[in-house]
Amino acid sequence: MEVRSRFAPSPTGYMHIGNLRTALYEYLVAKSMGGKFILRIEDTDQERYVEGAVDIIYKTMEMVGLKHDEGPDVGGDYGPYVQSERKAIYKEYADKLVDLGGAHYCFCSEEELERQRKECEEAGIPFKFRDPCKRISVEDARKRIAAGEKYTVRQTIDPKGTVSFDDHVYGHVTVETKTLDEGILLKSDGLPTYNFANVVDDHLMKITHVLRGNEYLSSTPKYNLIYQAFGWDIPEYVHLPPIMKDEHNKLSKRNGDASFQDLVAKGYLPEAIVNYIILLGWSAKNDEEIFSMAELEKIFNIDGINKSQAIFDGEKLKWMNGVYVRNLPPEKFHELALPYYKDAVKRDVDLVLLSKCVQPRVNVLNEIPEAVDFIDALPEYDIEMYVHKKMKTTPEIALKALEEAEKVVEGMTDWSSVEAVHEALLAMPEKLGLKNGQFLWPIRTALTGKQCTPTGAVEAAYLLGKDESLKRIRIGIAKLTDGNAALSRV
Ligand code: GLU
Repeated sequence: MEVRSRFAPSPTGYMHIGNLRTALYEYLVAKSMGGKFILRIEDTDQERYVEGAVDIIYKTMEMVGLKHDEGPDVGGDYGPYVQSERKAIYKEYADKLVDLGGAHYCFCSEEELERQRKECEEAGIPFKFRDPCKRISVEDARKRIAAGEKYTVRQTIDPKGTVSFDDHVYGHVTVETKTLDEGILLKSDGLPTYNFANVVDDHLMKITHVLRGNEYLSSTPKYNLIYQAFGWDIPEYVHLPPIMKDEHNKLSKRNGDASFQDLVAKGYLPEAIVNYIILLGWSAKNDEEIFSMAELEKIFNIDGINKSQAIFDGEKLKWMNGVYVRNLPPEKFHELALPYYKDAVKRDVDLVLLSKCVQPRVNVLNEIPEAVDFIDALPEYDIEMYVHKKMKTTPEIALKALEEAEKVVEGMTDWSSVEAVHEALLAMPEKLGLKNGQFLWPIRTALTGKQCTPTGAVEAAYLLGKDESLKRIRIGIAKLTDGNAALSRV
């Protein structure tokens, strides 16, 4: 039998990290078993519908390389793939389910529900709706419906019995049917609730594997009763534990946690986000951590999904993003870095070279502006920075280096390439009896005013150009001599 899984997002306007993980696992379950991956838009909750949200779903899936075999945009044999376009189908199956005894028509008003809720509250017992409409015969109910009365379709559950099923993550689950509520399957506007639509659609779309958040685990017995009433096969279930922000709180966009789009906007690469998210609840047999989608399509297996709650670790994501950033082809990195230079670097500098320096030193693209801010303006810095233990620099050595550098730079005529600057500057340390580091550290400090920069002294000088380099070297000398002589040359 062909494996078929589906991603069934509700169009809420963003891609929650948990949803994206579900989508990835669904895709990988299908692909690792040579099956099909289906996209279904669950838009029956019209109140939650957000304009443009479906496009966000398509765009995200495209960005992360989740290509669906069937869906609203690509079609398929089991459409329509948008729930709001399947209204007639739900109505037909709701009526069938009534005939089969798995549901009944209900004419109760909100007031009736409220009355019972109050009653339970006063009696101090948990609310469970006892539907008086169960006593109405199907014929009578249909007459009332034909006469235009408003109705819903509610599930009918025999309270004597149990339902059991096996879940790939949670194992064997058994519940007593008396604990299940007879919820609404078809609302008075004719649209189904998730509780009904998921069963009808998964069956009609021949879904073999249902992966979803574990918040659906407790309702799954009710869905199984519907499958049973219709005489349909029950799919394989894989309920996923939530992704946590910390030990006690779920990661949630509503609580301000980042969505996929937020992360991309911050400069995380889609491939890195995907790789990181995959590992939130799944691990490879060999504990490897960096995977391409193509590799995952081969090695992913349901058994690798674990039951323990995964905690979203922003630091680890940063690290992983860094791995991906460093693996980018330089031209690609440059292209991605350009928007980050836009406001950060106004000076006319060789941005391609800057990208070469920056690429190995940032983890997330939004670190770029701070990494390159020294180009436009020399930050205030302290002369302590000239002292570097490893480089064996002292204020005296730094001064000597800068004074020599001032002379060299002044006399340089060829500033056409980083190699030319390199040649001129690197001729100096030996002449001065200094190690390269002793000479270059002070220059880098004078040019950038920072302890950490993506560029070395030579690249910084080349990027800044002769005049700006000279100016900054003189400021450095002035700081070290505490005098105005050098400053007057600035
Ligand atoms: N529309 C549901 C949601 O977004 C999907 C649940 C499922 O995968 O069945 O939570």
